[in-house]
This record gives sequence, C-alpha cells and structure tokens, in this order.
Amino acid sequence: MDPRPEPLVPTFVALRRATRRASPLFAVLAAALVVVLLAARPLGGIGFAFEALAIAGMLGARIHRRMGAVDQHARRDTELGVWLVLGAFAVVVHVDGRLGGDHYPLVYVAVGVLSAFAHPLASALVVAVAALFEALLQAAAFGGLAGVELARHAFFMAVIATVNVMSLRLEIARLRRVSRSQLDAERDTMREEARHYRLFLPTSPEDGKTKDDDRLIRSGIEEIELSVLFALRLLRQSLGTHTAMLLWLNERGNKLRISELVSDASDEELAEGPFSTADGIFGMVLSQRAPVSMGQLKSSYPLPYYQDTSAISAVCAVPVFQHGVVRGVLVVDRATGGPFASEAEELCEQAARFCARAVENERVFVQLERTRLEQGKLYRAAERLGAAMTEQEVVEAGVSCASEIAAVDFAALTAFLPSDGAHVICAVRGADAADFEAKRFDDTTGLCAMALRNRHVLPYRGHYDPGHQVVFSKELAPPTMPSLLVLPLVVHDEPLGTLVLGSRRPHAFDDAARGLLEVLASHLAVSLANARMVKRLEEQATTDGLTGLLNKRAMLETAVAKLEAARRFGRPLSVLVCDIDLFKRVNDTHGHDVGDVVIKELGHIHARIKRTTDSVARFGGEEFVTICEQTDEQGALLLAERIREELRRTKFNAGGGREVGCTCSVGIATFPDAGQSWEELFKAADEALYASKRGGRDRATIWSPRLRSDGNAAA
Ligand code: GH3
Ligand code: MG
Ligand code: MG
Repeated sequence: MDPRPEPLVPTFVALRRATRRASPLFAVLAAALVVVLLAARPLGGIGFAFEALAIAGMLGARIHRRMGAVDQHARRDTELGVWLVLGAFAVVVHVDGRLGGDHYPLVYVAVGVLSAFAHPLASALVVAVAALFEALLQAAAFGGLAGVELARHAFFMAVIATVNVMSLRLEIARLRRVSRSQLDAERDTMREEARHYRLFLPTSPEDGKTKDDDRLIRSGIEEIELSVLFALRLLRQSLGTHTAMLLWLNERGNKLRISELVSDASDEELAEGPFSTADGIFGMVLSQRAPVSMGQLKSSYPLPYYQDTSAISAVCAVPVFQHGVVRGVLVVDRATGGPFASEAEELCEQAARFCARAVENERVFVQLERTRLEQGKLYRAAERLGAAMTEQEVVEAGVSCASEIAAVDFAALTAFLPSDGAHVICAVRGADAADFEAKRFDDTTGLCAMALRNRHVLPYRGHYDPGHQVVFSKELAPPTMPSLLVLPLVVHDEPLGTLVLGSRRPHAFDDAARGLLEVLASHLAVSLANARMVKRLEEQATTDGLTGLLNKRAMLETAVAKLEAARRFGRPLSVLVCDIDLFKRVNDTHGHDVGDVVIKELGHIHARIKRTTDSVARFGGEEFVTICEQTDEQGALLLAERIREELRRTKFNAGGGREVGCTCSVGIATFPDAGQSWEELFKAADEALYASKRGGRDRATIWSPRLRSDGNAAA
C-alpha cells in the first residue's frame, strides 16, 4: 500500500508555525492566570518570587528584542507593553494586597513608559488589555467587579497614553521640520553661491536641479573656498595684513558678498554684508576697474566691511576679472605702516587672478562632470533599451531611464495608428494609470498629435499650462501637473507615437533635461521599432501567411509537446487531417485566386469551429491538421463533421456571376490506439483520409487497424 506521507508534512509545518505564532499569547495568558491565582490565594514571598522571576525574564526578552529593532512594530511593542503591565499588576497586588492602593500608580507608570516610545496602536491595545486584566483580577480575586473604580483607572491609563503618544509625535514632527528647514537653508545658500560663481548655466532653474547637481555644487564650492583661502593666507603672510578678503558680485551686479576672509578682527568688528557696489572703496574699484590703494587713513575713514575702522592705517582693493568682466573685489588692509607699495598691489592682483581662475576651473569642472554624468545616464539608457526585446520591456526601460534623468511622476506611451487617423495610449505609469490604458484619441491639435506631426518636442520652450493646453484630447487629459513634456517617437521619418512625461516638480524638464530626454526618445523609438519587427518576424516564423493559422513547423513543435502531455496524464488526443476534394479541378477551372479564397475560407471555418485548446495548422497546399487535446474518436468525428458541413454549405464567388462549392475529406486518428508517436499518429490520420477519399470523398473516417491492411492491399 502506498503510505502517501506528503500531505502530513505541510500539515505538520502549518501546525508548528501556528504554535510558534501563538506561543507568546499562551505565555501571557499563563502568566496572567498565575498573577490572578496568586492574588486570590497569596503564597507569600515564594509565590511572588517565582512570579516576579518569570515576568521579569519574559519582559527582559521583549526589551532585548525591541532594542535590536530599528523600525516601529505594533505587535512587538504590544507584547512588551503587556508584560510590563502584567509585572506592574503583580507588584501592586503583592505589595498592597488590593487594587487601587498606594502602589497602583505603578500601572500608570508602565502605561506611560510604553506609550512614550511605542507604536500608537500598541499603546491603545495595552491600555485595553490592562483594563481587561484589572476587571479579571477584581472579579476573580477581589470580590467582584467594581465598575466605577475600573472605569476611573482605565480613563487615567487612556489619558496618560494619549498625552504621551501625542507629545512624542509632536516632538518628532517638530524635529523633522527643524532639520528639514536647516537642510533647505543650507542647500539654498549653496545654490546661491553657485549662482554667484556661475557654476551653472543660467538657463537651468533651481527647481530642475537634481541630487547630482547639488553634489557637484557642494564639491565645486568647497574647492573654490579652499583655493581662495589659500590665496588670502598667502597675502596675510607676505603682506602682514589685518584683513584679507575676497568679495564676489551677485548676479545682478549690484551687491558684493564676502566669499572668504582671513582677518585678525573679531566677528563683531566685521560687517557681514552684502555691500552695495557704490560703497566707498568698493565703488571706486568697480567704477575705475583698477586697483585703489590708500595709506595714512584717518580713524574716521569709513571702510564698508568694518563696524569700526579705527584700527586700520592702509587699505588696497583690486578688481577680480573673469574674461574681461569684473566679478568681484579683493581687498587687503593693515593696522600699521604706510600705504601698500606697488609690489604689494601687484601681489594682490596676482592673488585676484588666482581666485578668478579657481572659480573658472571649478565652473569648467562642474560642467564637464555634469556632461559626464549625463552621458553615463544616456549610456545606461542605450544599454537597457538595447537589451529590451519586447515592446513591454522597451517601455519599462524607457520610463525608468527617463526617471533617472528627470523627476517623472507620470509617463505614457502613445502609438499612432495612421490607418485610423488616431492615437492609442499603449502603456502608462504613475497615478491612475488604469484610467488611460488603451484609450484612443483623434489626431487633432493636442500636444501629442502636434509633436508627432511636427517632429518636435512640445510644449514649446517647455512652457506648459495645464489649464489651457490639450495633451491627448479635451476629454482625455493626463493628471494635472506643473511640468509636462511630449517627445515624438520617430524612426526613419515614420511616426511611431509619443512619450508623454509629467512631473509634480515645477520646471522638471529644463533645457538640460529636455536635451537628454530627446536623445532618450530617439533611442526608445529605435528600440520600439526593433521590438515590433522582432514580434512580426516571430509571428511570420510560426504562422501561415494565407490563413493566419500555425504553419507546419510550429505545428510539429506543438504536436510533440501536446502528445507528451497526453501520455503523461493518460488522456486521449486526436489528430484530424482535412484535405479539399478535387482541388486541382477548382484551380484549373476557376484559377488559382479562387483556389486561394477557398483555402482561406476553410482556414476561417477551422478557426471558428475549433475549441480554444485545439491547435490548427495549414500543413501545406490545401491540407489542414488539427490537434484536439482530451478528445476521443467520437469527439473528433463531431468536429470533423461540423467542418465538413460548414464547407459544403459555403458558396464561393468564382467571378462572372458563377458560384463554386467545395467539399473536403477528413481522416481521424486518436492516441493511444492509432499510434504512440507523432509520426505514427499522423500516418494513421493520413490513412484514414485516404480511406475517405477512396470511399467517395466528402466524408470523415476514423482510423482502424483494418485500414492499414486495406491500404497495404490497395498499394
Ligand atoms: P483529392 O480530392 O484527391 O485531394 O484531389 P486534389 O485535386 O485535391 O488532389 P491534391 O490534394 O493532391 O491536390 C493538391 C492541389 O492543391 C495541387 C495544387 O494545384 C493545389 N494547391 C496547393 N497549394 C495551393 C495554394 O496555395 N493555392 C492554390 N490555389 N492551390 C494550391
Ligand atoms: Mg492535398
Ligand atoms: Mg485535395
């Protein structure tokens, strides 16, 4: 006898899993029971020691587990809280001998401690469990339920938990807000500096900046700071300056900001800036575009960068040029001695050139690095698109690469159907994707239609107005977002469709991103065309051109697989071979074209009548083969008769008002009786077909061993 042990294993595993899952619950229930029993019948110190040890052990294990966890987990916190509360009750009951005594606040402490850190749901659950447990204790150990007292205790527990949870949440939210605003402020300062140094092209708006850009800006500014500090320190060393400072003009050229300074003066003595370009010595340098040097300064002489100028005796300021344009001012001063000599002035000018070059170098580096990053993205995109074989894979790769280039929140791929003069949305990613899938829209004046018609990225110059511009059609609009881009997909001047990208970020598709996305779109278009061609080729390789049914090669592959399945599961399988009767005559009388129409129609008849699990192939000429799974001789005969009847009923137009009719003969062979291998089965079906022909045509015959001997005799 077959012992069949298999079903036992999953049952056992499930049982073990259930036990393991339920064991913490059992442990808590057991401990609760012990506390209640000991409250009802105190055993003195020994009982309490045993109880305290067990609860402390379990509690320790829970605390250990909670310590190791990084995330908040309601279940874990609930378990910990329940043990905590249980412990508190055990102590209260043992020390006071009743509920509501001097030590009862321990329970509140337990609830408070838990809710200070736990998941809010866990806090709520623990309060509920505590109230339940107290009710149980009252009922079982302290002479019946005391509703008022219980309600009061539960109320306080709930209040403590709520207040703790709320204050914790509020504090976390506050800390988050503070740190976020600090980060934002830091990033804004950095970006402002980057703007002053012109590290980025002025065309790229702030909102469009990516993480990569921020990283580049940060490293660029750090490098500039280091170089400038180096120059200023050198000046201090060689000229004995009190203060050496580089100031940089803002974008509008009306304010000077301190870039870097090296000074003996304290922060209180120095002014923060920014300074007006008309201010004293700065104004002179900027208007003269030449160094200005002054000595024997009166203590009342105003230097804009000091709160108090009494200590300064000489000052020298030189303009900082970049490509012939004044970008800033370098200023040095000293507390003692006469005016700066011309060599000193020359040294300052050299330092100014050094600083300007440092900024220029970083600008070039940032641009190069940005280009390198962009090329990397495109390279990866090309690689991924190249590896995508199906249309689906191409779309996936395209959308994910677009997301790498810009912050994409919505993406749709539309296909143009030239014959219908319409577009269809064939893939969507993002919010409400299902609302757009397979939707059609007319080829009118929406952005998609226009972008494809004009082979141009739209909206023009990236100015998108969701309120007025139509993307697909008036009835079908993408989710409202401040940024949107429609990229035409064109290969060899053949319009394939468009890629529509939307972003919740304003200016997400700035000039730089648009350039990259255009390159991506052209890659995408080529990959899409390739994927479609591959699909067509695959179809051509497996289907018959005239009827759209399987071809002989594809059928042989299917046949072997189906026969194997029939053998494994011990099921019947029938093969039908259908051949048009006296077809040469149709061809000869009415011409090949009419013959082709007949073949095509018989193909349609087969496709119409067969079940979905049947496979039909045109096996060559005017011969069709059908494989029917789980079908015996009688089932196959039924199908054959329906095909035969259907063809017999059909009349074909032979031109000149003449009509022509056709009949067909069918041979049927069924596995396993008619043969074991495909070759045997097919041979048997062919023998049965031959019998149909011999028997007068327009009929179906089931193979029987007798036919083989008949055939041999006829041969
Ligand atoms: P039978 O009843 O014995 O089958 O007689 P038959 O004339 O149909 O004989 P057979 O099946 O051997 O004839 C096959 C003919 O089918 C030969 C050829 O002229 C014709 N044929 C094969 N392929 C095509 C095709 O693609 N188009 C057309 N129009 N005729 C084809
Ligand atoms: Mg034939
Ligand atoms: Mg024939």
